[in-house]
Amino acid sequence: MSRFLKDSIKKLESYTPGEQPQDKKYIKLNTNESPFPPSPEVVNAITTAEVRDLRLYCDPECKKLRAALAKRYNVESENVFLSNGSDDILNFSFFAYGEKGVAFADITYGFYSVFADLYNLETTVIPLKSDFTIDCNAFCNQNKLVVIANPNAPTGIELPLEEIEKIIVSNPESIVLIDEAYVDFGGKSCVELTKKYKNLLCVGTFSKSRSMAGARLGFAIADRELIADLEKIKYSTNPYNINRLTQVAGVAAIESDSYYINNCKTIIENRDYTETELKKLGFTVLKSKANFIFAKSDIIGGKELYEKLKENGVLIRHFEKTRIKDFNRITIGSREEMGIFISKVKEILGENL
Ligand SMILES: *Cc1c(COP(=O)(O)O)cnc(C)c1O
Repeated sequence: MSRFLKDSIKKLESYTPGEQPQDKKYIKLNTNESPFPPSPEVVNAITTAEVRDLRLYCDPECKKLRAALAKRYNVESENVFLSNGSDDILNFSFFAYGEKGVAFADITYGFYSVFADLYNLETTVIPLKSDFTIDCNAFCNQNKLVVIANPNAPTGIELPLEEIEKIIVSNPESIVLIDEAYVDFGGKSCVELTKKYKNLLCVGTFSKSRSMAGARLGFAIADRELIADLEKIKYSTNPYNINRLTQVAGVAAIESDSYYINNCKTIIENRDYTETELKKLGFTVLKSKANFIFAKSDIIGGKELYEKLKENGVLIRHFEKTRIKDFNRITIGSREEMGIFISKVKEILGENL
């Protein structure tokens, strides 16, 4: 760091993304990417002509893509905001709505605390219950920005919509942000509730279920006044936030939605397979509605299993946090990948018996 950087940023602890190692080819079950490529329609949409048009600025209003998403989610274009990955919407929301402080769970997406620190927000950390579910009552009457990943990460556990509604109703003077990065893998979306509640911001991404992590495309659905807030920040920072190719790919992805719905079904089947096999090996597996599972073994520590799998060419995600250090988060990949994962785990456990 240089001596020119302001102190508040110098001491900031930034987010650590999952490893993207280049040294050898791993079976990558560590960053919740999709094992499937984008749909053939998306691949075909990136034509030479589109690439040649990169000399031109993109549409800052993203009209086509907003209209496509609005249709898909049964809302109006004015209810849709698009961003360079959904992390950007989180960023804008902490920036815009965190004045009275922010509340989130102790075990959740690691970026929330980074944004809270970045904007120096007063933070209320609400512990998950002992079964790792979200403590709905504790999130009620907070009267500050409430941020909940649903399904939660890295637990994969879903909070029922009725409980989300309770939280929204009990926090009428503040924004409730529901981060639905994993909702397509069996969860229930709160999009419909955005028509009823003006303080609900529902956030989604093309990174997980739509196989487009590298394209960087996130979206928010909310009352039009909230969308106008986000637009205001966008036009004050980076109006051309969605590049041309991503806009084209995004429209094609929405138009081929059945392809992704099918992929999600396959992931759910592979998740069931992985859960069953891990349980046979004595693992505790939390009930996941996401494209990953969170599991621990009594035979081997979380970190040791992570390290041994890495030596064996399989990457999973381990977190150092005390409460979850025995667990690992395992992304659900293809059936073949999960088969290899299970056989490697068996080998490693064999050594430890
Ligand atoms: C992956 C993820 C995101 C961010 O995804 P983008 O790639 O920035 O769209 C947001 N929230 C949670 C909980 C995630 O796991």
